[in-house]
Amino acid sequence: MRRTLIAGNWKLNGSKDSITKLVSELTTGISAVSNVDVAVCSPYIYVPFTESLLTDSPISLGAQDVSMHASGAYTGEVAAVMLKEFSCKYCLVGHSERRAIHGESDDIVVSKFKALKVEGLVPVLCVGESLEDRDQGITMSVVEKQVMAVINECGIDAIDGSVIAYEPVWAIGTGRTASPEQAQEVHAGIRALLERFNKDIAVKTQILYGGSMNPANASALLAMQDIDGGLIGGASLKADDFLAICQAA
Ligand code: PGA
Repeated sequence: MRRTLIAGNWKLNGSKDSITKLVSELTTGISAVSNVDVAVCSPYIYVPFTESLLTDSPISLGAQDVSMHASGAYTGEVAAVMLKEFSCKYCLVGHSERRAIHGESDDIVVSKFKALKVEGLVPVLCVGESLEDRDQGITMSVVEKQVMAVINECGIDAIDGSVIAYEPVWAIGTGRTASPEQAQEVHAGIRALLERFNKDIAVKTQILYGGSMNPANASALLAMQDIDGGLIGGASLKADDFLAICQAA
């Protein structure tokens, strides 16, 4: 009953030329993969450009971040309503690179999540433990705390229509992937947490895996019961790799 979602996170990569080529190859290749939802999360500056390239394409557009504010004196920020104007359906929040490099706390992540919900965008709430957390055996409590921050502030109903992405920090951009069993354990834990509040929402919510997913490991990860798709960084920059992951789904 849950559709699979494969979302590319381009991070700080791309140019008008490379995005034109990538989107054209994806659009051509994607028609063969109709049973999955596909999205690409563009850097802010290329959102309007990517929007124009995706006209009539089944690929949805997403952004990688959003301001927690709707408007005002916030130099450099981009509001959810602006992303909506350029057809963004999805937006990442709480990516570990934002949490670590830009010091985004759970409070900030929750405010951004809320800002997206107000405008009807789909937040992709990224959660995940560091290697240190995993070694200490506190993976599940770290992930639960990140999800609970949203539930406590916005209520379980806010999770309805949102996406959660489990991304172990130690697997992001490292070439080291969580094993399908390791990932499944955390995904099942997240779903069990949601279930404590609302069974329906728990069953419906797409939980993506992210962290060095590639054409070689995608099928095994996506075959797990509670893994409903992928958030793909490095491998989303090459059309062949990204399409192979979509095909594996
Ligand atoms: P990766 O990135 O696929 O390059 O590990 C995933 C992510 O950070 O979303």
